[in-house]
Amino acid sequence: MLSEDQVLEILQKVGAFRTGHFVLISGLHSGSYVLKDAMYAHTKETSQVCREMAERFKNDKVEAVIGPAIGAAILAQWVAHHLSEMTGREVNAVYADKDGNGGFIVKRGYDKVIEGKNTLVVEDLTTTGGSIKKVVEASRKAGANVVGAVVICNRGNVTKEDIGITDPAKFVSLVHLSLEQWPENECELCGKNIPVNTDVGHGREFLARKK
Ligand SMILES: [Zn+2]
Repeated sequence: MLSEDQVLEILQKVGAFRTGHFVLISGLHSGSYVLKDAMYAHTKETSQVCREMAERFKNDKVEAVIGPAIGAAILAQWVAHHLSEMTGREVNAVYADKDGNGGFIVKRGYDKVIEGKNTLVVEDLTTTGGSIKKVVEASRKAGANVVGAVVICNRGNVTKEDIGITDPAKFVSLVHLSLEQWPENECELCGKNIPVNTDVGHGREFLARKK
């Protein structure tokens, strides 16, 4: 089993997790930045992380895996692939689409695929649990028996209650990140004159405004 640090190392290697001095889209400053989509360009690392997600649920009789499009559709494929290998039986992979009203819907015939099946919900990053909760609800509406949820990064201390998962189903986070961020006038990193990153977030705009 991979430790939190080992998973973080993989994410760091592909540029999906960075440390430094960042200006987030919200305008707040932070010492870390998650660029989740960076991982999907690297199939070996994506597979490694998904194998770990599968590992945590290999004894939970999972029959189907679902994630919210777009990113988690890729996770669903890999996690289902590894679960199939580990258990020796086919585990299906599907994804949920946005419904246009802020929620998710299981369509494309995927509702029939997960109907009556033990289903695992996967997601890359959660801050409030909102998207996972909506996919849990959409899956149940399609008749799935949700046996758990697994996320790569939990950045907001999201709990199983937050996403509507109840015992005996479980909620697993491979990595827990603190939501350490400050308004710019209270930023510890600005105070130490640490250079602001201009590749991601709003660092470039921040520096332009400071001039
Ligand atoms: Zn700062």
